[in-house]
Amino acid sequence: MPFATVASDNLGGVGGTCVLRGCVPKKLLVYASKYSHEFEESHGFGWRYGTEPKHDWSTLMTNKNLELQRLLGVQTNMLKNSGVTIIEGRGKVVDPHAVSVDGKLYTAKNILIAVGGRPSIPDIPGIEHVIDSDAALDLPSRPEKIAIVGGGYIALEFAGIFNGLKSGVHVFIRQKKVLRGFDEEVRDFVADQMSLRGITFHTEQTPQAVTKSDDGLLTLKTYKGSIHGFSHVMFATGRKPNTKNLGLEEIGVKLDKHGAIVVDEFSRTSVDSIWAVGDVTNRVNLTPVALMEGGALARTIFGNEPTKPDYSAVPSAVFSQPPIGQVGLTEEKAIEKYGDVDVYTSNFRPLRATLSGLPDRVYMKAIVCANTNKVLGVHMCGEDAPEIIQGIAIAVKAGLTKQNFDATVGVHPTTAEELVTMRSPTRKVRTDAADETKMKDEATRQK
Ligand code: NDP
Repeated sequence: MPFATVASDNLGGVGGTCVLRGCVPKKLLVYASKYSHEFEESHGFGWRYGTEPKHDWSTLMTNKNLELQRLLGVQTNMLKNSGVTIIEGRGKVVDPHAVSVDGKLYTAKNILIAVGGRPSIPDIPGIEHVIDSDAALDLPSRPEKIAIVGGGYIALEFAGIFNGLKSGVHVFIRQKKVLRGFDEEVRDFVADQMSLRGITFHTEQTPQAVTKSDDGLLTLKTYKGSIHGFSHVMFATGRKPNTKNLGLEEIGVKLDKHGAIVVDEFSRTSVDSIWAVGDVTNRVNLTPVALMEGGALARTIFGNEPTKPDYSAVPSAVFSQPPIGQVGLTEEKAIEKYGDVDVYTSNFRPLRATLSGLPDRVYMKAIVCANTNKVLGVHMCGEDAPEIIQGIAIAVKAGLTKQNFDATVGVHPTTAEELVTMRSPTRKVRTDAADETKMKDEATRQK
């Protein structure tokens, strides 16, 4: 499909969501938006600027799009150099061994569906006035004041981006807390830290309608009330598999109630010659997981080595500001699965914040199985958490124990060293509730 920053049935581009409309452009905008916080931090270290630093939106968008075009070229060449023939157009599976692209028929022994997902937005009155994440990554100008509906990865990442680029940001979530499924304490911590940076959270507010007034400004109406004056309203209310009009049901490929392709452990669909990987299967919707699924599939089909993707200890990051890194089980899931766990936590002011004077803090948590002493999960919210968690993920995936962590010498002075120096458990959770000892939170301290 030809390149487009906003995906449609006929446009998109080699690279898909991650490269063109997700992870990569998002991270570029995160980099752009972090400077304002860093300028602020720098004052305590003696930096003075002649004038307030100004941001030029069009430079950012132009450079971002040039980089996306470059990546599109790189990916296209990689495919061509590996002997892949690229056929651009709208495809439809017409039988277990045939795909029709814009009317022309192509046959194959195996067919792989990897069409990903699309933003999913509730159909409420005035929804035509809102933008999704595709559009939010390529706006012609900076939003003055934006309402973001949703409390997941995408909502929090964009809240940080627009806040850093100095838009007024209001986040509307329908529950009490952001990031359902994440560690409970991390959920609280990240929302507190984001609020301190100027983001307003509206909790337990389900969107009801969006209206546009004569001055062009938008009002978001929820079941609790209305807020007026938004230049933009963005919905980040999840994504759904992009399986419409692909001809799948007609030839017997089973879809679940969300439209995701149902696959077995080897990524095979209900039709033997058709396989599916990535977000279209709605398993763990992360780029590196799709990559793992694709690698396993290649070994299964072409390497004569049936291989199942392994979903244990998949690390992930939320590029909110501050960002989150996590791997393994949350405390809640670990208790559910193992019963007895020891929980180590630390909530501290990083060295950088001492001179910057900003209220930035770091939160860390390690969950350890009380019987085997294995580290079951590590969660962190604070500067560099995504970079730090990648290394920790190797240890958790390898099944290392708390003793292995304790025996590791820290790198000083870093934030990460805290992960190998949390010595006393904050609490020991025992299945028999009477045994539960809540220990003094020694780890919470000012550094
Ligand atoms: P998520 O599923 O993470 O979050 C969706 C949010 O929208 C939730 O807070 C949900 O609330 C809320 N919501 C859903 N429907 C409604 C509604 N009708 N009204 C109000 N609120 C609603 O989806 P995202 O869009 O943030 O991300 C999509 C996927 O992309 C994720 O699965 C993620 O894995 C992936 N992703 C990964 C990133 C990364 O690795 N850094 C970055 C961005 C995306 P509730 O909790 O109440 O259901």
